[in-house]
Amino acid sequence: MKIMEDQPLQGLTTFRLPARARYFARVRDLEELREALAFARRGDRPVLILGGGSNTVLTRNFPGLVIRVELPGLERIDGDGEEPCLLRVGAGEDWPRLVERCLAQGLFGLENLAWIPGTAGAAPVQNIGAYGVELADRLQAVEALDRTTGELVHLDKQDCRFSYRSSLFKEDRLRDRYVITSIVLVLSKIPAPILTHTALKEELASISMGSGEVTPLEVSRAVRRLRRRKLPDPAELGNVGSFFRNPVVSATVYRDLKARFEGLVGYPEPSGDRVKLAAAWMIERLGWRGARRGSVGVHTEHALILVNHGTATGEEVMALAREIQRSVEETFGVTLEIEPAVY
Ligand code: FAD
Ligand code: NAP
Repeated sequence: MKIMEDQPLQGLTTFRLPARARYFARVRDLEELREALAFARRGDRPVLILGGGSNTVLTRNFPGLVIRVELPGLERIDGDGEEPCLLRVGAGEDWPRLVERCLAQGLFGLENLAWIPGTAGAAPVQNIGAYGVELADRLQAVEALDRTTGELVHLDKQDCRFSYRSSLFKEDRLRDRYVITSIVLVLSKIPAPILTHTALKEELASISMGSGEVTPLEVSRAVRRLRRRKLPDPAELGNVGSFFRNPVVSATVYRDLKARFEGLVGYPEPSGDRVKLAAAWMIERLGWRGARRGSVGVHTEHALILVNHGTATGEEVMALAREIQRSVEETFGVTLEIEPAVY
């Protein structure tokens, strides 16, 4: 494993913000990961873990060691063809490719999560979710290197404290403790499409009304079409997906807001007493969609996504984010939390 000095990070995150790493290493196995962490410990250097960089906002040069996790691996661990299928996936595996491979092998359950950029190792960090399914629905365990003890640990789903776009790995106190090395997914050979999400249901309406059954492959294709229509391609326009998490408020607050703002979009949480508000609706209502501040902007097709029009800096991104947060707070009295990791 090679430790490189003064490395540019711009090409390693999908926002493509300018920043450099004092030290940088790619790790392809556990031994290299341990070596890299030992290097950081010896020099008392901070560590930043990077996967595909699609949920990371860099606002400055990083003074310590950036470790890019590239651990490979895809292994059935359920014995011979049992149901459900257990799949251990190395943290460095590309998530969209993994979903494609599973579908091709007749292993179902990830189709709603198709085309989410990034690595398998980062997926538990924010409990990735889309179109009515979240990682926690399909995950059995996480394996990680505990940086406080140097031990490899096995965390069951319950240990991961998954919630809406969050987990133990995002908690302030624990954010730097674990490096995820692999995840164990629970998949099935029996198709059971989840069509609860409004836009996905509509996209597939013609199929389900016609021939009846919708297949997992059709779901993943519909997800791809929806995403292509609305989401900016990071190769063309730097972004990290949704910049803010949808806020969850009490049913009373929702009722009050709904009475004041016609058309406000909210979805009751399964528990019934809380409602998830569509942050994009509020931001759009305040006229932010398509707005620009220099090289940073709000995507023209999606008010929840901030984009880099070319030469944006982390400071500019955060300044625009704060402006949007202030205006939503002033009008709706709701706090928007930033979803990606900000360094
Ligand atoms: P990175 O950005 O590299 O890392 C994200 C965080 O995880 C950082 O804090 C990092 O330190 C930590 N991390 C990364 N790897 C590890 C590891 N091995 N161990 C411990 N910590 C680690 N997200 C959704 O939930 N749903 C979506 O539908 C969705 N759509 C998106 C669409 C676009 C166009 C884009 C650009 C992003 C989207 N995202 C979405 C966000 C992003 O794709 C996910 O959060 C993804 O899981 C990030 O993976 P990554 O490897 O790129 O993470
Ligand atoms: P959308 O279809 O315009 O819907 C807007 C919001 O309403 C979504 O955030 C979604 O919440 C919620 N919603 C819609 N139908 C729902 C239902 N039947 N029950 C409960 N909630 C419902 O959303 P979009 O922005 O185009 O994104 C589509 C999907 O991809 C969403 O699931 C979204 O989370 C995901 N996505 C995530 C990111 C990211 O970076 N985190 C980026 C792009 C897309 P949920 O967000 O809870 O699903």
